[in-house]
Amino acid sequence: MSGRRVAIIGAGVSGLAAGSYLQACGFSTEIYEMASIAGGVSVSWRRDGYVFDGATNWLPGSSAALNLHGILAEVIDFSKLDIIEFDEFARIELLDGTIFRVWKDCDLLEREMLRISPHDRAVIRAFTGAVRKIRTFSLPVWKTQELYTPSDLFRLFRDHWRLLFFVLSWRGATIDKFFSRLKSERLRTCMRMIFPHHGFFSLLALLLPVGWMCMRTTGYPIGGSARFNEVLLERYCLLGGSVRFNRRVRRIIIGSGRAVGLELWDGSTVQADAVLSSADGYETLINMLPEATVPAALRGRFGRLDLYPAMLQISFGVRRTFKGLGNKIILQLRRPIPAGDDPGMSTAIIRLCGFDPTLAPRGCTSVIVTLRTSDEQYWIDLRAKDPQRYASEKKRIAEAVTDELEQRFGNIRTSIDTVDVATPATYVRYTNIWRGSYQGWAPTPAMVGRSLPRRIRGLEGFYLCGQWVESGGGLPRAVLSARNTVQLICRDFKTVFTPPPPTAQVQERRA
Ligand SMILES: Cc1cc2nc3c(=O)[nH]c(=O)nc-3n(C[C@H](O)[C@H](O)[C@H](O)COP(=O)(O)OP(=O)(O)OC[C@H]3O[C@@H](n4cnc5c(N)ncnc54)[C@H](O)[C@@H]3O)c2cc1C
Repeated sequence: MSGRRVAIIGAGVSGLAAGSYLQACGFSTEIYEMASIAGGVSVSWRRDGYVFDGATNWLPGSSAALNLHGILAEVIDFSKLDIIEFDEFARIELLDGTIFRVWKDCDLLEREMLRISPHDRAVIRAFTGAVRKIRTFSLPVWKTQELYTPSDLFRLFRDHWRLLFFVLSWRGATIDKFFSRLKSERLRTCMRMIFPHHGFFSLLALLLPVGWMCMRTTGYPIGGSARFNEVLLERYCLLGGSVRFNRRVRRIIIGSGRAVGLELWDGSTVQADAVLSSADGYETLINMLPEATVPAALRGRFGRLDLYPAMLQISFGVRRTFKGLGNKIILQLRRPIPAGDDPGMSTAIIRLCGFDPTLAPRGCTSVIVTLRTSDEQYWIDLRAKDPQRYASEKKRIAEAVTDELEQRFGNIRTSIDTVDVATPATYVRYTNIWRGSYQGWAPTPAMVGRSLPRRIRGLEGFYLCGQWVESGGGLPRAVLSARNTVQLICRDFKTVFTPPPPTAQVQERRA
């Protein structure tokens, strides 16, 4: 046992995972979390008997078909999750009546694309050919790259050269650019709508998820984000960790070029041998650390690098079911909804959560509608400066979305039990997330596969993990990021990195 104490900032997925890894390696940890619950942006909330899930649609690595599963299983007891797989990821519905089904089966998906545009065979085959290759890859995730020895590098090229070649071949084009080669405007629109507003992302950010979907390793855990967090938190606590909720960190205390503790907003201080922040990147690097300790190049990334577009979530508790309509509809709106400088949010992602009985009373459905916006600042400023108008704007958005749902499904308005609107300002309020960007850095061609430093040169004992370190966000990436950073902490404290043993073994040891 190293007996060293690590203070962790943030009980999001990454902070909790980091806690489990550190506890397993013999460190003593405590997590300081500003919110009253764990999970960070991966969150759900209750309203009038309904649960509105704000995050977990799908869990890459949910089955052993992808080796990320093995990493997740180190911090999550999968026997406690009831995972279901859908046959289709989403149904895309265009205003002209086109329906495009995004199947989680490459042959069906290819047939669907050809049905919409038989003249685009070459581009379609190039896309589905790449998707099929993904099932042959495992990811080189067992060791963090900073610790690679020459023999690790040799093994990387020997065992993963086809994956490396694949990444180099596909990462340069954006999603928009690749599909601009399609002759069919309709198919182009459909392909861009699989992940709306991600057109500037690298094509890899579409290929990999679609590839994993077709490998049946992107299931949904019943209970959604809340259940996922519960299982993650349980494991951390079982390993001896603890979380201090409602404790917002104000600054990281530095002594003789070393992070030696935390100062909280309630005025109290915490001493530690090392500090690991899994909190939002801007909050950590710009607000919590003294300016002189963070290199200008790192500070400069805020404002220079692209972010995930922010979003609004309009959640409905509805006294009816939606049988036969699938789990997710991505809908072109009849009337785009303007807000601030955003001329019109024109695509709605509608999750019909009837597949999860824990989210609504019997015979009722939790319906989650997501709109992505290009003007997150409008909402952040409005909430801060004009709360009344902020409230009336939220009502306007809820009305506009209700209209669209009424047109699409009928029998909505009279069946609504409750409505809840979350804006980019809501995400900032509860998780401090910079500019409401709920998944951090966008995986553009320049960023995909890259990470930001996990340590700062000249500042000992300070570490970073989470979605502001790795681009692309996502639950497994948050866990992997924690695992990578803990390997560095172990190296610095001359401790052997040992992943947590299976839950049953920990329980036995404790007994
Ligand atoms: C709407 C939505 C849908 C998503 N869908 C999926 C999906 O289907 N599949 C998937 O894999 N991923 C999905 N994600 C992404 C995934 O949830 C995130 O990438 C991941 O949860 C990020 O975890 P994190 O720990 O890195 O960051 P965070 O969740 O941001 O955790 C950071 C924590 O730090 C805390 N904190 C911040 N500042 C302070 C401070 N000063 N003091 C103390 N605590 C502080 C925050 O409150 C938070 O708890 C989704 C996210 C959202 C929002």
